[in-house]
Amino acid sequence: MGTDTKPVNKSDKVKLYDIDRGSYPSNRGDVFRSLQVFECGICKALTNEVVMGGSMGYGVRTICPNSSECWHHELEDKVELLEQPHPKAYKDALKKEIDQIRKKNKAKTKNDIKGEPDSKLKDDITNTRSFDPDNKKCTHY
Ligand SMILES: [Zn+2]
Ligand SMILES: [Zn+2]
Repeated sequence: MGTDTKPVNKSDKVKLYDIDRGSYPSNRGDVFRSLQVFECGICKALTNEVVMGGSMGYGVRTICPNSSECWHHELEDKVELLEQPHPKAYKDALKKEIDQIRKKNKAKTKNDIKGEPDSKLKDDITNTRSFDPDNKKCTHY
């Protein structure tokens, strides 16, 4: 007791903006970190990097850190397929396949979290698909 218990390691201090309160950088192209955590509906990765604007129109954009990977493209195709009407047996098989792809790529699934966001404030990632121009083998355009 009596010692100063303030955390010592503050080198990775990042300013987090609360999107729900509406005060955050809002010029097109601004990039900042949010108090909210965004989860990818495809691979379940988490990020709190927010990009204003972008190719899909102006606004708060969050991009899955794995969205330019081909395994992610394949996974997204299957997740989209699952949303369409299919016989139950087909859907069940598809669900299993999706689970397997997620498991297989778990080690490669990167999160992109900086600072200490509030994990209770969870929202969906807006941009789940992007393309890496260096990835010449990609056929998912
Ligand atoms: Zn993802
Ligand atoms: Zn691809």
